[in-house]
Amino acid sequence: MLVNLDEKLEPILTDVLRRNAGEEEFHQAVREVLESLGRVIAKHPDYADDALIERICEPERQIIFRIPWVDDKGQVHINRGFRVQFNSALGPYKGGIRFHPSVNLGIIKFLGFEQTFKNALTGMPIGGGKGGSDFNPRDRSDGEIMRFCQSFMTELYRHLGEYTDVPAGDIGVGGREIGYLFGQYKRITNRYEAGVLTGKGLVYGGSRARREATGYGAVYFVERMLATIGRDFSGKRAVVSGSGNVAIYTMEKIRQFGGTVIACSDSNGYVIDEAGIDLDLVKEIKEVRRGRIADYAALKKGARYIEKGSIWEVPCDIAMPSATQNELTGKDAAALIKNGVIAVGEGANMPSTPEAVRAFQEAGVLFAPGKAANAGGVATSALEMQQNASRDSWTFAETEERLAKIMHGIHDSCAATAEEYGAPGNYVLGANIAGFVRVAEAMRAMGVV
Ligand code: NDP
Repeated sequence: MLVNLDEKLEPILTDVLRRNAGEEEFHQAVREVLESLGRVIAKHPDYADDALIERICEPERQIIFRIPWVDDKGQVHINRGFRVQFNSALGPYKGGIRFHPSVNLGIIKFLGFEQTFKNALTGMPIGGGKGGSDFNPRDRSDGEIMRFCQSFMTELYRHLGEYTDVPAGDIGVGGREIGYLFGQYKRITNRYEAGVLTGKGLVYGGSRARREATGYGAVYFVERMLATIGRDFSGKRAVVSGSGNVAIYTMEKIRQFGGTVIACSDSNGYVIDEAGIDLDLVKEIKEVRRGRIADYAALKKGARYIEKGSIWEVPCDIAMPSATQNELTGKDAAALIKNGVIAVGEGANMPSTPEAVRAFQEAGVLFAPGKAANAGGVATSALEMQQNASRDSWTFAETEERLAKIMHGIHDSCAATAEEYGAPGNYVLGANIAGFVRVAEAMRAMGVV
């Protein structure tokens, strides 16, 4: 379906759909950006010259590889690995690695495409990339995870480097996995190249506040957005989906800002705790025991676990989807709007469907798209690279202060761009255009490459 598309952009989208058949998430991400670019082409037609937009929609390199590994019983498994090096106009490819059974090339491409604009929005010298595997880490032992990570890196290492491509974590890839990946990279290359991966442990070159950065950053963005209508988090009810890295630290910062998080989830169901989610308990269940969110209701008096149904039916003032793509549908948006939601901030990548985004915008709900709101993770990864390059290590407070400044800066640049292009308050448009212009300027300067 071609909606709201400038006539110069229609053939570009048609071509993307044809050449990337069946990659629905990638189509969705490209369509959304192209819908925003009509206003740019109208003002600056030269941005459509030299197939610049076509080039931005085509990854520079796509790597697909076999990952053989042996489980604890001696059985051999084969998974598929991906690394999509999307765009290096602004710096080395940078973006996370995802381990989840749903991973396929289209999902990695959508994530790499989004990452390119997100990284541009941070104002830092990083290009866009993404990787992963259809490996399911659930219920696997530490030994199995280690052997899988080693096999993954044994193939991927040749494509990485601090000036080439710098992966980090994403769904299913946290501190433990980054440690195993880094260990194998170091062993194969015989180089202690700290800047080749981010999200490392503090004892071997990691940055303070990196673990917290995506969640904290998303809340800093929403804080700034709420301020535009004279509101803040204080006394507000919030619902955060997921209970992984992004969700946990989103909940922590909301609480620090005086809000109460009353519900969170995992892929099996959600918990409601009107007294406010006990974060120490969630961290214990998820980070230490690697258990399920259902355990929370069993351990906490007054909490309820709902196995089926949508977390978005829980009435709240602020919703922060922080689990996965397309987890918040048009129907969910309608429920949130009916219950009086005032702001939605995406911690995950593309968690709201296009119907949901449209519904929020039409209802006048403040809406922060993931590519802007969750950029704090990659921005702090770039800070980790800076610390590695200068052999330095900053305090938590210093790093968080920089993160807050970066998030407020991203907010202000999205807001100003939306205004400049005649759509005040439209953060989707602002983020897409501000990110695009930065990448496009760099690409133009470098000629046809
Ligand atoms: P984690 O693996 O730490 O946590 C993911 C959470 O989302 C888990 O609670 C998981 O539940 C849930 N989830 C995952 N897949 C699904 C699914 N298909 N349906 C329902 N729930 C699901 O990942 P992160 O917190 O790191 O990532 C969450 C989101 O944030 C992703 O969209 C990621 O791309 C994005 N992001 C992450 C960044 C980071 O720094 N980590 C940076 C920027 C964006 P379960 O355990 O049941 O699978």
